[in-house]
Amino acid sequence: MHDAQDVFERARAEVDLVSFIEDVVGRTGKKQGRGMAYNYCPLPGCGEGTASSNRFSVRGPKWHCFACGNRGDVSDYAAHHWGKSPFDAAKELLGEGDGERIVVAKPDPSRQLTAQAEQQAIHDAVGRVCQAIRERGLRNERACVRYLTDVRKLPLVVVNEAVDRDILRFLPSDTNLAASWLKEHVGEQLLREAELWKPGKKVPGIVFRPLVALMPRDTSAEFRIIREPKGDEKKALHYGPKKYPWWWQGTRPTTVVTVEGWIDMLSLVAMGSPACILALPGTGTWVQKFDQWFLPLHEKLNAKVISLFDPDVAGIKCGAELAKRLLAAGIPNEIERPPIDGDLNDTLKDFWLPQHQAAA
Ligand SMILES: [Zn+2]
Repeated sequence: MHDAQDVFERARAEVDLVSFIEDVVGRTGKKQGRGMAYNYCPLPGCGEGTASSNRFSVRGPKWHCFACGNRGDVSDYAAHHWGKSPFDAAKELLGEGDGERIVVAKPDPSRQLTAQAEQQAIHDAVGRVCQAIRERGLRNERACVRYLTDVRKLPLVVVNEAVDRDILRFLPSDTNLAASWLKEHVGEQLLREAELWKPGKKVPGIVFRPLVALMPRDTSAEFRIIREPKGDEKKALHYGPKKYPWWWQGTRPTTVVTVEGWIDMLSLVAMGSPACILALPGTGTWVQKFDQWFLPLHEKLNAKVISLFDPDVAGIKCGAELAKRLLAAGIPNEIERPPIDGDLNDTLKDFWLPQHQAAA
């Protein structure tokens, strides 16, 4: 066993998988994020995909076929190619088998991206996905709009305004339709480069989350479900760097209310707030971004900042820490709390609307 393990490890270390495919098998792929994509699978019975498909992918020393689900390393690949056992194939690769040693080129240095460049490439791809969804995403999808108006109680006029301001877009709420819409309008390759479509998955995870909240300048987006989460399912997935917060330009620019997330932001708009609203994509996100997000409010708008976070542990802590930083920066600020136990959406549903409707 020890010997076999050692043979496989040495084969992985000495024979570059992509070079093997190029030099020995004679097939080339195309670069995809950190790895390579091929339109065919070397396994018997799996074979060729369409010219544009990404049937087979290589990342570092590992390959994976999306069509048949098989995976492995260079020895497994060579085993399929030569019709030998992986052990015999590994020996062959190392020149310790019956045949001659297989000599393949050293890995292409352009595939050896630095970790930072890899991250940047993923972020760039996420940005192009955001742009595609902003430009081509649905501006009206009945099930999504109904969720916002009927469950979240946001007025249709506010939802439409958020769409007009390029904050909201929708994917088809039917998961099959969402998958084909994404393939057609965003493209499988880009979704994979952006890591929104994970290796081994039949569809990108966002097909289950049709509510898309875009962040400024096509940098990132939150994808959200339109029902109660099941078990430990995540309500929302966020892709891309949280470079900017969500921003709502109000009619009173000298007051900036900072809230948690875009649903609270739109809830505050629904309650008639004239303030500008800065919605944090998570309570901790401002800490590293304080200078970029908060200093300009004071310098450009001469604004007072009101923190209006949830009355829970995270919200209270966030408000207190933000107040300290704002004070140190000489920015006038106040801490407010929703008038009821819950977030601003609860305030809209359970406090503001009942009062408002009773008065009307
Ligand atoms: Zn296959």
